[in-house]
Amino acid sequence: MAPIAAFQKGETMPSYVNVEKCDGCKALDRTACQYICPNDLMVLDREKMKAYNRDPSMCWECYNCVKICPTQAIEVRGYADFIPMGASVTPMRSTDSIMWTVKFRNGQIKRFKFPIRTTPEGSARPDGGFETADTDLSSPVLFTEPASLGLPEVFTLKK
Ligand code: SF4
Ligand code: SF4
Repeated sequence: MAPIAAFQKGETMPSYVNVEKCDGCKALDRTACQYICPNDLMVLDREKMKAYNRDPSMCWECYNCVKICPTQAIEVRGYADFIPMGASVTPMRSTDSIMWTVKFRNGQIKRFKFPIRTTPEGSARPDGGFETADTDLSSPVLFTEPASLGLPEVFTLKK
């Protein structure tokens, strides 16, 4: 395991598991946080049935685990420009929005609801309606370009 010193120096603000809320995803083969972490950091202590981050200094702070946890057990160490010192923040995900609950150090609670999609679940078009005639997946441009950029062609270095 990498030294925890990097985290203590304040270089990262990793999420962490509130063990009182974590139920180990009820002993599924793979927990939701294990499934979603892009850096494969989350592990489950099967004796205690509690998940933990095996290397907080490697956390990308993507908050995927925070949003997917079914029991809201993974919490965020919020930055000061996000929540003031001493406050906590917890997300509650629904199919079309995320409700962030901020609890300030004086006990006051505020909730902020943000939409996360504009179409019903399962109905989004992968190409966004920007189909291209010559799909070349090995091309340096993206699948929907240049139409999604509103350009006649993508700027590239010409020989
Ligand atoms: Fe625990 Fe949440 Fe991870 Fe499930 S997703 S193991 S409840 S922290
Ligand atoms: Fe992994 Fe992202 Fe959670 Fe960090 S915040 S533990 S990188 S899923």
